[in-house]
Amino acid sequence: MSHAPGQPFLPFALPEIGEDEIVEVIDTLRSGWITTGPKARRFEADFTAFLGDPSLQSIAVNSATAGLHLALEGLGIGPGDEVITTTHTFTATAEVVRYLGADVKLVDIDPATLCIDLAQVEAAIGPRTKAIMPVHYAGLAVDMPAVLAIAGRHGLKVVEDAAHALPTTRGGQLVGTFESDATVFSFYANKTMTTGEGGMLVTRDEALARRARIMRLHGMSRDAFDRFTATVPSWYYEIVAPGFKYNLTDIAAALGLHQLKRAQGFQQRRAQIAAQYDAAFAGLPLVTPPQPAAGDQHAWHLYALRLGDEAGIERDRFIEALFERGIGCSVHYIPLHLHPYWRDRYGLQPGQFPHSQQAYERLVSLPIYTRMDDADVERVVQAVRAVLRG
Ligand SMILES: *Cc1c(COP(=O)(O)O)cnc(C)c1O
Repeated sequence: MSHAPGQPFLPFALPEIGEDEIVEVIDTLRSGWITTGPKARRFEADFTAFLGDPSLQSIAVNSATAGLHLALEGLGIGPGDEVITTTHTFTATAEVVRYLGADVKLVDIDPATLCIDLAQVEAAIGPRTKAIMPVHYAGLAVDMPAVLAIAGRHGLKVVEDAAHALPTTRGGQLVGTFESDATVFSFYANKTMTTGEGGMLVTRDEALARRARIMRLHGMSRDAFDRFTATVPSWYYEIVAPGFKYNLTDIAAALGLHQLKRAQGFQQRRAQIAAQYDAAFAGLPLVTPPQPAAGDQHAWHLYALRLGDEAGIERDRFIEALFERGIGCSVHYIPLHLHPYWRDRYGLQPGQFPHSQQAYERLVSLPIYTRMDDADVERVVQAVRAVLRG
């Protein structure tokens, strides 16, 4: 299968890397300090400033997966424990629970938001439950006050998977500033801002922050930059735990410093594209994505629409037909309960997750990124219309 000749292929996602990012990376390469050092520290400070709450600590890591792992590890999750999350997510959310020897309890989504169904969270809590991991699907905030109320009633920890949610608000409050134990952002190549690979763990918990800083670098009591910049000979360090190799390099942080400055502008452009799609698709046999409440900000990492009953075309065929017209799409997500590992480990059946299953069979994520111009958006719109006309 190949796409229409004559038009360039419009990929599903592309990063927007500007001249400032490139200059900063070159400066890093010339500086003599390329791994975790001054730029990673500045990126952490800038990130806390971006969230606007100095009681938060931002801990830069080499992926969101690493950040989620460090958060759960620092909260003491281990064998015998259970963590509740949504089946409608990327495997990274759940795999970190298994790294620690704990078990995952998957629950269905609310079909109105495609985010974790909080009534089902509460129903799934048992004697082994230790934590809840909500996922702000597509960049739409989960009802965090409700999650925190459930956690409070049952004495549970809360770790937010905010891989899609920079910048997202709910009730005027940025995701990352709620009273959860930790929030983790992703700077993977196709996320709303990128460092190539990278992530940020955000917490107000002093003990968790201290533990995560040590565990992200081999369980060392002092990092290399600390020792390098000391004014007295400082070769000495102590290993206090069998840690991980999760530090963010200064080369990556150099990208992050400038991407973060552009994060609000990036969001505005993505929101504009989402609104253009919403308007163009009204009246078509499609379910457009759930909207945030008035005054709230959706990060629009994904524009995930669902084919309606009257669409007259299967989802897989729809994606092929867009591909033939030179447009890349994706599906978010193949729910965890359908993957062999999760299915077999917990004996899961599609019927246990009817809303996620139904959404999965109809979901298509369209391209939505800042490098798309209005002509690109129009091309997607026209292609969608043409495919639906048959
Ligand atoms: C991208 C993503 C992750 C993992 O992020 P990495 O930075 O690639 O580790 C975790 N959860 C969700 C929902 C994601 O989309």
